[in-house]
Amino acid sequence: MKRDVVIVGGGIVGCATAYFAAQAGLNVTLVERETLGYGASSRNPGFLWLHCRSAGFDLDISRAGRAICGRLLDELPGGFEFRPAGGLMYFTTPGEGAVFEEFVASRRRDGLDMELIDGGEVRRLVPPVREDVLGASYCSEDAQIVTASLIAALARGARAEGATIHEGVAVERLLTSSGAAAGVETEIGRISADAVVVTTGAWTTGFMAAEGLNIPIGGERLQLVKTPPQPFRIEPLVYGPLATRQYALFRDLPSWDPSLFRYEREGNGLTLLPLLVQQASGEVVMGCATDYPDEIDPVATLGGLSLLANGMGREYPSLANVPITAAWAGALPFTSDQKPVIDEVGPGVFVGAGHAFGNTAGLVTAEVLTDLLLRRPPSFEIEECRADRPLEAIEAGVATHW
Ligand SMILES: Cc1cc2nc3c(=O)[nH]c(=O)nc-3n(C[C@H](O)[C@H](O)[C@H](O)COP(=O)(O)OP(=O)(O)OC[C@H]3O[C@@H](n4cnc5c(N)ncnc54)[C@H](O)[C@@H]3O)c2cc1C
Repeated sequence: MKRDVVIVGGGIVGCATAYFAAQAGLNVTLVERETLGYGASSRNPGFLWLHCRSAGFDLDISRAGRAICGRLLDELPGGFEFRPAGGLMYFTTPGEGAVFEEFVASRRRDGLDMELIDGGEVRRLVPPVREDVLGASYCSEDAQIVTASLIAALARGARAEGATIHEGVAVERLLTSSGAAAGVETEIGRISADAVVVTTGAWTTGFMAAEGLNIPIGGERLQLVKTPPQPFRIEPLVYGPLATRQYALFRDLPSWDPSLFRYEREGNGLTLLPLLVQQASGEVVMGCATDYPDEIDPVATLGGLSLLANGMGREYPSLANVPITAAWAGALPFTSDQKPVIDEVGPGVFVGAGHAFGNTAGLVTAEVLTDLLLRRPPSFEIEECRADRPLEAIEAGVATHW
């Protein structure tokens, strides 16, 4: 059994691994280059989204992650914001409606608790939505978290279990001794360990290349904005019709016709993935303008804001004049087969990265990484997540869909 463990990267995967591993009795040190959740985790809108997860691995890991989230709510000191109020995707034309009808039927066959609701019900659940909404798919299994609050709770829990967490410290390289993990070299010196866990999200390819390992993980930039507290209440997660384009579950339906879902004026290589969520504070988070630049800065761009203003202004006309209190971007990690890499890539060197939907899957990965560290059978089947599977290189600018 490895006793001293260094975790590189403090997103949801790193923080949850720190918590589970420290809880299991390991001596954990987590090192984050910026602040906890800096990459993707604390920048995302907090969807625990089962609605569009394909049957099999994706749905199974999402359900398992959502269940862990429920358990953590009772367990973590100080708790975090979690709302099991379902999620919906609405439509506004009869043509779109036919696609949604087929979608709901197929999801019910996959065992999801999903139904088609009418326009009146959508307007009741989402007061500012456009008047001509005709209906939506609604899934009671979807839930919302404020991911930054979960990250903070995981860090509190890890510290309470004895873990040490460094922020603002970059790990420069892995250290080995006789071919096995021996710790890491950081900006502030060496940290010795029996095992190293690399949870560096969209930065994993570069970090592991320096160690001679090819782990192709790309980064998608997503831009969002936030409003001050609003007087209405929106409980479920909300996706607009154009979000259908992101999911093979829609694109593979016999009724799918891409021309039905192409009414946004998009440019500069940016695409709109329209989503909205209201937090307990009343603040509304809206996104996302998406693209695939070489380097991802955590800041919004004029092109992104313009796409959001046009798209979300059309979807939620009454919100067009509300102030914006924050605008930002995040780096969503992904692999060419959309599954994460969860593996021991060298003696005592573990990787947990490449999560496109880490709010759920990342928690499962953290439990599995803890199992691997303790040399016990993984609690979730991860054969499909091996690092040596044939993953394709990710080219900047090339869009990905799942
Ligand atoms: C805007 C946006 C919206 C999203 N929406 C959702 C959603 O609603 N639901 C969902 O499930 N998923 C969503 N995702 C994806 C989700 O956020 C990710 O799957 C998840 O956060 C990945 O977690 P991670 O821990 O692997 O990576 P990250 O959160 O990116 O953490 C990696 C960390 O490693 C650090 N790091 C990198 N290199 C080093 C180094 N050398 N030394 C030390 N530290 C280093 C980085 O600073 C970073 O903080 C979204 C992502 C974005 C960006």
